[in-house]
This record gives sequence, C-alpha cells and structure tokens, in this order.
Amino acid sequence: MSNLVIRKVAVLGAGVMGAQIAAHLINAKVPVMLFDLAAKEGDANGIVNKALAGLKKLSPAPFGNAAHGAFIQAANYETDLAKLGECDLVIEAIAERMDWKHALYAKVAPHLAPHAIFASNTSGLSITELSNGFSDELKKRFCGVHFFNPPRYMHLVELIPTATTDAQTLDDLETFATTTLGKGVVRAKDTPNFIANRVGVFSILAVMAEAEKFGLSFDVVDDLTGAKLGRAKSATFRTADVVGLDTMAHVIKTMDDNLKDDPFASVYPVPTVLKGLVEKGALGQKSGAGFYKKE
Ligand code: NAD
Repeated sequence: MSNLVIRKVAVLGAGVMGAQIAAHLINAKVPVMLFDLAAKEGDANGIVNKALAGLKKLSPAPFGNAAHGAFIQAANYETDLAKLGECDLVIEAIAERMDWKHALYAKVAPHLAPHAIFASNTSGLSITELSNGFSDELKKRFCGVHFFNPPRYMHLVELIPTATTDAQTLDDLETFATTTLGKGVVRAKDTPNFIANRVGVFSILAVMAEAEKFGLSFDVVDDLTGAKLGRAKSATFRTADVVGLDTMAHVIKTMDDNLKDDPFASVYPVPTVLKGLVEKGALGQKSGAGFYKKE
C-alpha cells in the first residue's frame, strides 16, 4: 500500500479544540472543512472567525492573513455531509461523551471516502469502544489522534491505535503529524486517558484535593504550582479553565469509571468545586468564567 497524501481535512466540532486544530491546519496550508452544530443555526461566519482568530497572534504570518480564509470552510451536518468524501482525513473533536460521539459517527461513516482516515481527538475514551459499530474496513482506518491544548504550541500528539488499526494508517498519521504539522508523536496504548492525561489529570486532582484539605484559595495554589515554579501558564486551576471545566469533569469521570482497582487513578472523583461550577454553566475560559473570570 502506498502512503496516503492528506490534501484536505474535515474537523468535526468547532469548540476549544476543533477550532484550534483547524487553525493549525490552515497554518500548515491544509484546506479544512470545519463542521459544527452551530453552522446549522446560521453561524457559519462565527465558526470561521473563531478559528481564524486563533491565527492572528502569529508573527510573522507564514502567508498573508487575508489568505487564511480561503483555506477554511464552515460546514453543517444537515447539508454538507456528502462533502466529507473530498477529505483524506476526518478528525472528530466534539464533546467528550461516548454516546454523542457514537451518534455522530453513525451519521458520518457512510459519507467517508473509502481511503480516508477517521480519527478521534478524545482525551481518554476507549478508542476501541468508539469504533464499535464500524465496518471492518473502517476499523482499519480509525485511530485516536490526541492533540494537546493549545494545539499550536503544544508539541505532543498521541496516536492511539486499536487492535484493528492498520499499520499503514498509523504510519500515514505519524507522517502527517510530524512532517506537515511539525508535531512530536508518541504512540500510546488504548488505556483510559492514554499517557499524558492519565498522569496530568491525576496530578491536577491531587493538587485540588490538597487545596481543599488545607483550605487554600485557588490563586494561592496557582502561584505555588505556576509562577513560583517558573511555569505560570501551567498553574493548576488556570489549566482547568483553559481545558474547559465540563471537559475536565468528563476526563476525570473516564478515569474514575474505568480504573476502580487502580490505587492511584481511582482515588479522586470530580472535585465538588468543579462540579458546582459546571452546574452553574461556568465552564472556564470558553464560557467567560470558571475559577477565573475573563479579563
Ligand atoms: P468544547 O466543549 O469546546 O466543544 C465541543 C464541541 O462539540 C462544540 O463545538 C459542540 O458544538 C460540539 N457538540 C456538542 N455536542 C454535540 C453533539 N451531540 N453532536 C455533534 N457535536 C456536538 O470541547 P473541546 O474542549 O473542544 O473538546 C472536544 C474534544 O477534544 C473532546 O473529546 C475533548 O475531550 C478533547 N480534548 C479537549 C482538550 C481540551 O483541553 N479542551 C484537549 C485535548 C482533547
């Protein structure tokens, strides 16, 4: 089998990650179709502008900012699914819910080109379970491709094959991620939260639990785990806000649900304070308020 040339990509979901993955692709001069529920509600311009806004900070821009718009097209699931057939790679980046992802896959699968790779940007759901219901052929071309937030700056991409993912699919994704997108790739096993989130989420939860135990405020904790360590941008509560508190809660739940016998991973359920914020709709940076309010 020859190597796949990825000329056009579809991204499903224009949230925190989908919009930024699309921006990263445009930046690499790869045309993108960016699908989202909001496109159906007539907000195609909003979707494109949100993705393009992620590019404006680039200096120098690799090509004029005016040209960026030509590389991106907003699309909706009602009228544009047939256009998925033009794409060599489809990356799903919708909310971290197995049932929602399955429902979308059932709609999308019949429209994929026979050669196209299908990938999920899930933070830690089982890739094997995500592929339940696929044809044997599609299972060969399905893989986890986990970008980190923010995708432009975070060098790592985890690739998570299942037992049925073709070696060629994996090689093609690795070539694309490294050569076209300039990422560093780690091949991870299909275990809950893979590698980086298994470690990272555990350490965030440990810090949050200690903060609660000692009655420390989140800004004091962020000073201790961020600025004072010379890494202000990775401070604990700030990171949770950037990730999105609902997404963070889903990722914690994946670990809690699946690692009951693991002495480390299962000791922390979703923290009460985080649950309370999500219930109020304070989802972090994307909603304008979380632990911090948008300045
Ligand atoms: P988000 O909440 O910002 O966006 C979710 C998107 O999913 C929205 O565009 C929404 O329109 C869409 N959506 C919601 N329900 C849907 C449905 N039923 N059908 C179709 N579309 C639906 O989420 P996000 O942070 O961009 O996360 C997307 C995926 O990327 C998740 O699987 C998440 O775990 C993963 N991820 C997130 C981060 C992060 O830091 N936020 C990092 C890496 C991976």
